[in-house]
Amino acid sequence: MATTTVLTTESPDRWKYLNNILTRRGPYSDETFEPGDEPKAFLADLKIFGAGGLGCEILKNLALSGFKDIHVIDMDTIDISNLNRQFLFREADVGKSKAEVAAAFVMKRVRGVKITPFNCAIQDKDDEYYKQFKIVVCGLDSVEARRWINATLVNLVGEETLIPLIDGGTEGFKGQARVILPTISCCYECTLDMLTPRAAVPLCTLASIPRQPAHCIEWASVIQWPKEKGDLKIDMDDPEHVTWLYTKALGRAKEFNIPGVTYAMTQGVIKNIIPAIASTNAIVAASCCSEALKIATTASPYLDNYMMYTGDESVYTYTFQHEKKDDCPVCGNLPQALTVDPESTLEELMEKLQERPETTLKKPSLRTSAKSLYLQAPKQLEEQTRPNLEKQLKELMEEGDELSISDPGMPFNLRFIISFSS
Ligand SMILES: [Zn+2]
Repeated sequence: MATTTVLTTESPDRWKYLNNILTRRGPYSDETFEPGDEPKAFLADLKIFGAGGLGCEILKNLALSGFKDIHVIDMDTIDISNLNRQFLFREADVGKSKAEVAAAFVMKRVRGVKITPFNCAIQDKDDEYYKQFKIVVCGLDSVEARRWINATLVNLVGEETLIPLIDGGTEGFKGQARVILPTISCCYECTLDMLTPRAAVPLCTLASIPRQPAHCIEWASVIQWPKEKGDLKIDMDDPEHVTWLYTKALGRAKEFNIPGVTYAMTQGVIKNIIPAIASTNAIVAASCCSEALKIATTASPYLDNYMMYTGDESVYTYTFQHEKKDDCPVCGNLPQALTVDPESTLEELMEKLQERPETTLKKPSLRTSAKSLYLQAPKQLEEQTRPNLEKQLKELMEEGDELSISDPGMPFNLRFIISFSS
């Protein structure tokens, strides 16, 4: 009779390789590293936090690295499209909380690990909550959430608190892993200018001679939609809207002999979606969790401080030390310099700020040390300051003034010293 091996039972070999690392010294082990059972016990006691789109990989890796007290936050529910790569989820789980299902699955398979799931946004938890962790590992999928957790951990730095942030991210075949020691090494905010601004196709290309299928789709959404539908907003989740855009784009593509416009591509272009690739996620999450293990045990030196990986043109990785910025609004102490045209209006300045990755905020309020220039809330103050939007900057500020920008989504202010151009 055929027997099947049930993998839920703990194999004695499961911890063999981890034991090899933790019970003997390696050539690169830290001087303070004491091989033996102590690092294992330390791992078991260490509270660690994980979150985000790399969740399945991170959770599985942390549990199999010997961490036993893990918290996980994810605000998403399981969608059928997740099943091809998020391997802790099954068809019957569609619609349930990602954090809860993943936690239950890993606890079932890895004996002795305790995972506490939360189905919420990372921003829903306060400083007291984050203070309890020794390490934070994040595989978040938004810049905003990354900026938030980074600023939160930098603000928490005190005499006895310094929580390393290990941040992983992927975009298609590309990814990165990094170790951030708040206030000691460069933080997430220090490197925001590495993000490429969203490549804008000139309107004239869209309107006159499209060259790529994406141009036809942009034409349909940017030019044709407002022309034919007026003020109606495009709802990217409404299949009727997407079908309309797809049909228009396809017609235009035929006219210019451009092949390749599909429904899925239409969704991708208007939603700006880059597909998630299972192997990239696995590589980046593995790197993040190795760093957590190294920091927790000192068995080997940790990453200092940035590893990039690209898999789209052959396979390439590179590690370098990103430098801390003195004028970083989160971990630095100097305001940044900002040159503005004194003749331009406050509204134009706000539009300009939206184009820079480091100043892209959702609802920015602007102040100088002397007065409020524009406040988003409360309503009366918004109404009071709204006329300033039309005013020229030279009426509102002087050279050398400090401009401060705040946003409800960010636990810090951006500070700029103003100088006027020409
Ligand atoms: Zn910084």
